[in-house]
Amino acid sequence: MIEWSRQQAPNEACGILSYDTLRRMRNVSPTPETAFICAGLGDVVLHNQAGYLNDHLERYAIWHSHPTSRAVPTRPDIDLMRETLVPMIIVSLLPTVPEVAIFVLDEHNTDRVICVRSYRPS
Ligand SMILES: [Zn+2]
Repeated sequence: MIEWSRQQAPNEACGILSYDTLRRMRNVSPTPETAFICAGLGDVVLHNQAGYLNDHLERYAIWHSHPTSRAVPTRPDIDLMRETLVPMIIVSLLPTVPEVAIFVLDEHNTDRVICVRSYRPS
């Protein structure tokens, strides 16, 4: 995930993580340096909501990178979480040691997110 994020910089990298399977997706945002739109994510979300996905994919998280900012969800990131109701993983390439953080919606206030785990892989 971090390696792919570095390769995609200065653009944001994106994809989904399901159990041990990392899927890299194309960022088709018109402003890929500061935002992401995963090509194909809409199908995953729809199929998941309809119960079409197999066991291997039914639990997943959306991940993306912040090449030049901290691992903190932006307003559009939170909007996407509210829309999809899945956890979000953000890889920050700042500073020199990358930071990976996992966020979920606060179930009592979906305007807010909670960081459930954050670490700096060595
Ligand atoms: Zn973001």
